[in-house]
Amino acid sequence: MPCLFCKIIAGEIPAKMVFEDDLTCAFNDINPQAPTHVMVVPRRHIGSLAESGAEDEELIGHLHLVAAQIAGSHGLSNGFRTVINTGRDGGQTVDHLHVHLLGGRAMHWPPG
Ligand code: 5GP
Ligand code: ZN
Repeated sequence: MPCLFCKIIAGEIPAKMVFEDDLTCAFNDINPQAPTHVMVVPRRHIGSLAESGAEDEELIGHLHLVAAQIAGSHGLSNGFRTVINTGRDGGQTVDHLHVHLLGGRAMHWPPG
């Protein structure tokens, strides 16, 4: 049974796509926590950062470069935040690796 983000990637569940390439796609979060809140996800299913391996090294770097590119195209010149939640204590709720791109407001530190 494909996961939620695999279904979005396959076009089976609608989402507002903001970027696509061979390895990744990026879409607006359904419950945005900032004026810009984009999910950057690998097309290939990887459950979490903890489940990734050496073969994913370039892909994980690529996800972050894509996030920075989207930040640029969304005019986030004052900065932005990228977050990967991992596992239950990390606050991960969708078990398909994703980078949150948040911007358009000042972020707080430490995160909750
Ligand atoms: P996590 O909590 O796993 O780090 O992040 C999962 C994110 O996916 C959450 O920010 C949540 O709002 C978002 N999300 C959950 N279901 C959907 C959905 O059906 N569509 C979209 N676009 N985002 C979703
Ligand atoms: Zn998946």
